[in-house]
Amino acid sequence: MRRIPIVGGNWKMNTNCASARTLAAAVASSHRASSGVEVVLFPPFPYLIEVGAVLRDSAVMLGAQDLCHEADGAFTGEVSAAMLRDCGCTWVLVGHSERRHLIGESDELVNHKTLAAVRAGLNVILCIGETRAQREGGQTDAVNTGQLTAGLRGVTADQMKRVVIAYEPVWAIGTGLTATPEDAQAAHAAVRRTLAGLFNSTIAEATRIEYGGSMKPGNAAGLMRMQDIDGGLIGGASLNAGDFGAIVHAAAQS
Ligand code: PEP
Repeated sequence: MRRIPIVGGNWKMNTNCASARTLAAAVASSHRASSGVEVVLFPPFPYLIEVGAVLRDSAVMLGAQDLCHEADGAFTGEVSAAMLRDCGCTWVLVGHSERRHLIGESDELVNHKTLAAVRAGLNVILCIGETRAQREGGQTDAVNTGQLTAGLRGVTADQMKRVVIAYEPVWAIGTGLTATPEDAQAAHAAVRRTLAGLFNSTIAEATRIEYGGSMKPGNAAGLMRMQDIDGGLIGGASLNAGDFGAIVHAAAQS
């Protein structure tokens, strides 16, 4: 089945108001919908409206790096799904490894965030992936299956149309280390089998699974050529419009 590749730029806690606008403008001016690739930028919360204004007439979509699992109320410092939609977001990241491992988000919280997002009509990139110790212990597929099963609990077959999975081995994020295309493909194929078990083979075949972890212009084509790799979630390289554009180009050729 032909799945539309998707490439996300996760800016993390980088940029300022001026540089966010400049970077977004550079990405917007080089991306065309006719490339056949979906492109989403994930700026920091304070710049969402500014970046959204820059992207307004472009083919590049706007996403947030996180959301609160609650709809509204006394949750100081949190941002709801409705607020994100109000700011023009159509996408949100959930369960990024930096939130799981630095902030301590549990599988249960990740699940509640996923449900809050899809119920509010947002598209979700649900991030999963194993640590180095878990990989070395031969637990990669078990960890991914566990995070996927927990993260998608209660998500309906219809809501899965709005869910993309990002397989991001924790040891590869921001380290310069990348999974080989073969190792990444094996993990992605296992994720797809898990989706077939959780839902059915039609949903498994239709769901996009992107790879994240030090994807760069030099390794993107090799990764995205693999059968079950449907794009990339890009951290460091998304801060350079030229590098990010080269990765989008590799996705278009895949
Ligand atoms: C990420 O933040 O999701 C990521 C993959 O980062 P990097 O590309 O820097 O490894």
